[in-house]
Amino acid sequence: MSKDYRVLLYYQYVHIEDPETFKEEHLKFCKELGVLGRILVSKEGINGTLSGTVEQTDAYIKHLRSDERFKNTMFKIDEEDGHAFDKIFVRVKDELVNLKLENDVNPLELTGNYLTPEEFYQYMQDEDTVVIDARNDYEYDLGHFRNAVRPDISNFRELPNWIKENEEILKDKKILTYCTGGVRCEKFSGWLKQEGHEDVNQLHGGIATYGKDPKVKGALWDGQMYVFDKRISVPINKIEHVIVGKDYFDGTPCERYINCSNPECNKQIITSEENEAKYLGACCDECRRHPRNRYVIKNVLSQEEVEKRLSLI
Ligand SMILES: [Zn+2]
Repeated sequence: MSKDYRVLLYYQYVHIEDPETFKEEHLKFCKELGVLGRILVSKEGINGTLSGTVEQTDAYIKHLRSDERFKNTMFKIDEEDGHAFDKIFVRVKDELVNLKLENDVNPLELTGNYLTPEEFYQYMQDEDTVVIDARNDYEYDLGHFRNAVRPDISNFRELPNWIKENEEILKDKKILTYCTGGVRCEKFSGWLKQEGHEDVNQLHGGIATYGKDPKVKGALWDGQMYVFDKRISVPINKIEHVIVGKDYFDGTPCERYINCSNPECNKQIITSEENEAKYLGACCDECRRHPRNRYVIKNVLSQEEVEKRLSLI
């Protein structure tokens, strides 16, 4: 059954001469149309995710593609029951993804080979292949390709250094990289080539495209895909569902993400509703006792109730 809303995920590396003016006009257009989401604009292109009704998102796609620079932009589309965002942001940034390389890479000039979902599925099963997850640790922990390498990073810009420190995993291997929608891999795979690696390949359109491919059906993906909107996670594998997420507090299988209830911490933790209640939604004792603990405020817990729960931990 088709749903009334859609979430779009897209990017385009293309030269934008005047990002500020582009931003102003684009924000005005989005506000008039009524779509919500987060769109980054830079001299190197556009990177966006937004939600709206079927009509609104159709109009958005048509509008963007009417511009010569975006006529081939690939949109990953999820059908949903409502908005995935509360607001609309259009922001100018130095980069579409925050990699901050000393020698920046232009993916229009240097990037890894693009793989279709079918090719990616085939290659990742070869013994001579290494699959690198180009996302952050908390994204990996909720779900990832089976046997993919988990870089120990909480921010994309840490990835090049992590690779340099773990260079041996790439030796004599065919390198496959993947990320949510593909935008991070454009630059990351380009950087790998700049570093002298030859057989560098990226999943074109990212996990989001892989999960929608009618032939591979998300095969060999375990867990859920982390997304940067209200949904937090979306399913990918249509054939089997293997849970890889583990509850932060007791290690039991779990796929439910929350942010630590201390507004100054916000750490992503996987946990059940039961443990969220038990631990007041917070990652540590200090966060549990924070005066602005969101779980305590939202659930209108008395000081007595808070003390009672803390004493039971
Ligand atoms: Zn915390």
